[in-house]
Amino acid sequence: MRKTKLVITFGPALRQGDRLRKILHYADTIRLNASHGDPASRTEALALIRATAEELKRDVAVLLDLQGPKWRVGVFDGQVAFSAGSTGAFFPAGQVAPNGTYAWTVPLPHPELFAGAKPGQRWLLDDGALEAEVVRADEGLVEAKVVVGGALKPRKGLHPVGLDVSVDPLTPKDLEDIAWGVEHGVDLFAQSFVRRASDIHQLQRLIKGHGGSQPIIAKIEHPAALGNLDEILEAAWGVMVARGDLGVELGVERVPTLQKQIIEAARAALKPVITATQMLESMLENPQPTRAESSDVANAIWDGTDAVMLSAESASGNHPVEAVEWLDRIATEADAAHRRRPLPQDTLDRAEGRTEVAVAFAACRVAEELKARWIVAFTEGGGSARMVSRLSGAVPVLGATTDVVSARRMGLLRGVTPLLIPRVQNTDEMVEAVRALLQASQDLNAGDRVVMTMGLPLWKTGTTNTMKVMTF
Ligand code: PGA
Ligand code: MN
Repeated sequence: MRKTKLVITFGPALRQGDRLRKILHYADTIRLNASHGDPASRTEALALIRATAEELKRDVAVLLDLQGPKWRVGVFDGQVAFSAGSTGAFFPAGQVAPNGTYAWTVPLPHPELFAGAKPGQRWLLDDGALEAEVVRADEGLVEAKVVVGGALKPRKGLHPVGLDVSVDPLTPKDLEDIAWGVEHGVDLFAQSFVRRASDIHQLQRLIKGHGGSQPIIAKIEHPAALGNLDEILEAAWGVMVARGDLGVELGVERVPTLQKQIIEAARAALKPVITATQMLESMLENPQPTRAESSDVANAIWDGTDAVMLSAESASGNHPVEAVEWLDRIATEADAAHRRRPLPQDTLDRAEGRTEVAVAFAACRVAEELKARWIVAFTEGGGSARMVSRLSGAVPVLGATTDVVSARRMGLLRGVTPLLIPRVQNTDEMVEAVRALLQASQDLNAGDRVVMTMGLPLWKTGTTNTMKVMTF
């Protein structure tokens, strides 16, 4: 049984034929990337995802990934031949392209970049695949010479190295997308380029202002976030190792170390973590991953990630279904190998006397000791399932809840299977409900033991204080 969760990015490649239906068989979370597409097509995509998941009886979380303050080149037809050694110009989007002897001209919808550009600055484009050096910057025009060339497509990311202009953590576009996400009931938000805890608090306030209560995944991809990791982990529901922009910002050679460091910090802070970007990149073209990619996915799992993610592989690649099938296959094998690093030693010292941590930990220990068939975490807001999943080892976890949104959010919790149960009056009825559901799905034999955690009184969030061992 696979314990690692799969986060699959939606995109045009999944709109064809029955691809969405096929991948929803494996996907635990679907990421809608707010960087691409307009609200109307996103609304339609969300309806399609919900309807198909419903048909397949899959509790799939939908994660809306906000673009955040990322610079991108503007919109143009076709692609620009950004050839090495050529000199061209970036000009303000909305104006006509400058005349002159430029080999290429590229519109840029960010006035602050024209103000901040300086000769000698390195501008990285398309996640660092292309590079130009600023030659001259004045009067709303940036002349640059291409250092690393290739084809430049519209809306590709742009990162001027060392340019430090103050930017709001949430852009006007993000504000619209937040309103859309709350209105349409996405299950979680991901926040890009988080720098400090206050960025997350700001998003939390906005979500609440719209009447939502979605948890936030903080994407770790800005250099400043690394210095503030503890406060970010405290404020966020979970984090993402966003290796694409992390590599652009800090160097591709540092990605493996940073990945291990971020995952370890997330585990110590008892928060879920997603590892993302280029996991099966060669599958954009090929129907099989490389050996290196297969190893990369397995090693992220052994580092301790909760979830692994596909981006363009599923959203716009040539083999989206195969990519998801391979991700499932590699993750299943990696999970079966039991090579995960143990929890950091001081994890429980950091629990700071919290009852829910101590009870979850005790339940997991007892479950191991008794070789229990399941740990059942009764969870209303989902907090107890999240905690138990942090501390559990070999015994699989059922997150039993009456709340379909809590069930879906388990799509990011390693080793947790959601179990929707009817709302009951007392613990006896609750245990009965679980027994009936498990027996119906043949996941329980006579004599199997199940360790349960719950909060008494029932159905009050944040009160996990009780453990019960049942022999069925
Ligand atoms: P993105 O985030 O795909 O939204 O850029 C992930 C990353 O940077 O790795
Ligand atoms: Mn990113």
